[in-house]
Amino acid sequence: MTLTTSATHAEVRPDDFTRQRPVPENLVPDLNDVNAFDRDKIATAVIARYAPWARERASTLGSRVWDPKVLKAARDAQRHTPELRTLDRVGNEIYDVDFHPAYHELMGLGFGSGVHSLAWTADQPGAHSARAVLSYLWNQVDGSTACPLGMAYASIPVLRSQPEFAPFAEAIAAEAYDPADVPIGQKKSSGTIGYFMTEKQGGSDLRANVTVARPVGKRGPGETYLVNGHKWFASVPMSDVYLTVAQTEGGVSCLLIPRRLPDGRLNNIKINRLKDKLGNKANASSEIEYHDTVAYLVGEEGKGIRTILSSAEHTRLDFAVGSAGLMRAALSQALHYNDYRTAFGAPLSHLPIQAPVLADLALEWAGAAHLGFRVAHAEDHQGDVSEALVSRLLTPVAKFWNCRRVSGVTEEVIQSIGGNAYIEEHPCPRYYREAPLNAIWEGTSNMMVMDVGRVLARQPKAIEPVLDEIRPVAGEHPLLAAALTEIDELITAPEDTTRYLVTKIALAVQASLLVQRAPTVVADAFIASRLGAGWGPGYGTLRGVDYQAIIDYARLD
Ligand SMILES: Cc1cc2nc3c(=O)[nH]c(=O)nc-3n(C[C@H](O)[C@H](O)[C@H](O)COP(=O)(O)OP(=O)(O)OC[C@H]3O[C@@H](n4cnc5c(N)ncnc54)[C@H](O)[C@@H]3O)c2cc1C
Repeated sequence: MTLTTSATHAEVRPDDFTRQRPVPENLVPDLNDVNAFDRDKIATAVIARYAPWARERASTLGSRVWDPKVLKAARDAQRHTPELRTLDRVGNEIYDVDFHPAYHELMGLGFGSGVHSLAWTADQPGAHSARAVLSYLWNQVDGSTACPLGMAYASIPVLRSQPEFAPFAEAIAAEAYDPADVPIGQKKSSGTIGYFMTEKQGGSDLRANVTVARPVGKRGPGETYLVNGHKWFASVPMSDVYLTVAQTEGGVSCLLIPRRLPDGRLNNIKINRLKDKLGNKANASSEIEYHDTVAYLVGEEGKGIRTILSSAEHTRLDFAVGSAGLMRAALSQALHYNDYRTAFGAPLSHLPIQAPVLADLALEWAGAAHLGFRVAHAEDHQGDVSEALVSRLLTPVAKFWNCRRVSGVTEEVIQSIGGNAYIEEHPCPRYYREAPLNAIWEGTSNMMVMDVGRVLARQPKAIEPVLDEIRPVAGEHPLLAAALTEIDELITAPEDTTRYLVTKIALAVQASLLVQRAPTVVADAFIASRLGAGWGPGYGTLRGVDYQAIIDYARLD
């Protein structure tokens, strides 16, 4: 259609003009109203296999992921960032954080859906797998609120293990959210929790912490201490309670701190500043000081790092699954756009140079999702010696690998959509800024690698249950068999090769899971590209495979 140019400006009436305007086609509508669970081939298979009782719950949450109202809330909460108010109008110290209502809306939906607690409340087989699916869905909605949800998940067994803290555990486990800034005991069965560990001098080595805790009277589990010092990173400072670490006479110890004391007074915690972050902007991350802050000892003095690490097993699983969820969200956007939009006479997803990119991204997501859910399954079987070892070894492997890979996926997805994905109205910039964080908090990439190295140095046979699962599959796949041989040799290699070893373990486990659970075309392409030679470092260098069949595995239809 061309514009008529014969009429002068004065002669053209508005309705004529509208009629004559060329209407562009090929404009991709928002991805809305697709059920992110029902249409996801991996998440539905996990629920069918391990936790069929959770199908309806997962489907209900899945129906909200691409709901326009929820998408708007996620966007609003990121745009209107939290604000710290240290003093009230007349100068009283209040250390309050103001959030946009959208943040509370998201918190209400996440906590109300049991994303944080289903694993501990369901009393059903496969409860960790079911919760992992919820978390995978939630990470497609919003990373900022995934943080308090993940911390709540990790804290419940820690608090339940000590009878005096059990009421806190039950409040946090409730499927409810109440933003009121009152003592946790005054809330109607709901609660939130933060983990404050990192100090200015370094977050990876908690033994270097300088914050101190002194007993008020008796020392020991459940006793009252006063804490003095600081924390340099403290996310969700409006939580009702916090787990923190401090030096005691017995060494680094874990303590529980309420934000407000039972009489309603603030518990001497100064919030100095909120961090101005790259992403994760709806979540308040603060710098705080403790000044004779009342705290209760969790576990024995000197056992704080062990207590925190028992939580880290769960938060790390959560970020492994969460990063797979973030990949899924980005990939869903990419496939929606590329299937709808045409260029040079065909949908983008069928163009010969674009199809390998999308297929490659689909392989990355499939590997990450299967790996994350495999760890969740192991978490469901901690009573089984082999599964406990799988969980011990694969939790840091999956946290390392999925969180490393997610940044590249979000960047390539922006490429695959083009300019529209670089604009803030699109969800992709949010995914892109969120992605690197998962590889930092709850233990950086190197900390995960160190953890695997430590386990294998102490107990080289700990890897056997993982390898036992791969061996039967490797017979049919020479590249996988070669990877196993290499892993065997690397276990006793010098420490500087550990990152390579962990990468190989991740790829071999992903490959074997795909052989067992995904269409052959997906598994074969993964093995050829990730374990074979001739694959480029970037996405889109797959060659000679059925791209559309691979993309179909990821399509939400
Ligand atoms: C947005 C955000 C929110 C956060 N929220 C919280 C929170 O709520 N609570 C909390 O406690 N913390 C929080 N953190 C802090 C986070 O957990 C730490 O940043 C992280 O643990 C790393 O500590 P660090 O930044 O001090 O780095 P460092 O420990 O100084 O490490 C710097 C680099 O050196 C590497 N490194 C360190 N030691 C070794 C080694 N032995 N071998 C090889 N490499 C090594 C690390 O991998 C890293 O790459 C948050 C961080 C961010 C970015």
